[in-house]
Amino acid sequence: LAKLNNHTRFQFYVASIDQEIRDRKQMEKDLTHAIENQEFHIVYQPQINLETKRIIGAEALLRWVHPEHGFVAPDKFIPIAETSGHIVSIGKWVLEQACKQVAQWAAAGSHLRIAVNLSAVQLRQNSIVEDILACIAKYQIPPGRLELEITETSFMTNITDAVAKLHQLHRAGISIAVDDFGTGYSSLTYLKKMPVQHLKIDKQFIQDLLVNEEDTRIANTIIDLGRSLNLTVIAEGVETEEQEHYLTQRGCKLAQGYFFSKPLLPDDFEKFVKTFHANIVENNA
Ligand code: C2E
Ligand code: MG
Ligand code: MG
Ligand code: MG
Repeated sequence: LAKLNNHTRFQFYVASIDQEIRDRKQMEKDLTHAIENQEFHIVYQPQINLETKRIIGAEALLRWVHPEHGFVAPDKFIPIAETSGHIVSIGKWVLEQACKQVAQWAAAGSHLRIAVNLSAVQLRQNSIVEDILACIAKYQIPPGRLELEITETSFMTNITDAVAKLHQLHRAGISIAVDDFGTGYSSLTYLKKMPVQHLKIDKQFIQDLLVNEEDTRIANTIIDLGRSLNLTVIAEGVETEEQEHYLTQRGCKLAQGYFFSKPLLPDDFEKFVKTFHANIVENNA
């Protein structure tokens, strides 16, 4: 009986792995047509300067609404798009939309910058620097209005190649942020080698910032590291006034999170910017 049970369990296990592989394969297939079927859109999450309380720009975040399954979380489909290679064309599409948006804001007199997530797979492409520069040229965007968010995994495969490309982008005036800082294979060596200007404290350290002493110390350490290496620190996932207050008095310069706003559709983002700034003027009057 024990044997039978083991056998059953084993079959069940195989069945679920099998299902997972099939789901993955199906998702890969669905991603192939997602761009042309217009299933993607971008939402913009405001980034706030904690000293001036002004919006400095936004992070562009990709959304996929699948025709049958509805909303699919980026944490679910981006890793699959990375292994299948779809992230290259998807990333290009995101960059283009983001640049177009910045140009529209600029035309409306709003000098906001945009932060775009750049996958390690995209950074490995030979034409990536050329593609990015062509995109900002096409929309006539001042390079300083574009920030690329990269994660620590970008440095893991071919650090020399990554350094060279980031230097080219930096020399062109584009700024680079290390996303999810502290969650990957952090090394201070690459921070020295990389032309990086911003460190983003991962939201997992912000969530319990005022509850968990370890998280407080980690956040403090990243803020101090930023100060000594002359890097601007940005906290992500700020959800409460207490967190905002703590980060502000601790000297963290920038923040984003649900406390200010969730990621917004372009029209809602523009409305948000207007009312947010109108409220500051009112409060200071
Ligand atoms: P990320 O770049 O670290 O983005 C921050 C994530 O935190 C976003 O999740 C955002 O919606 C979420 N967030 C913002 N404020 C809060 C908050 O106050 N509380 C909580 N709990 N969450 C908050 P999202 O949009 O689901 O994206 C997840 C990840 O998917 C991103 O993490 C990024 O790694 C990746 N991703 C999203 N869009 C793109 C893209 O266009 N290209 C690439 N390569 N990756 C992307
Ligand atoms: Mg990001
Ligand atoms: Mg992040
Ligand atoms: Mg993250």
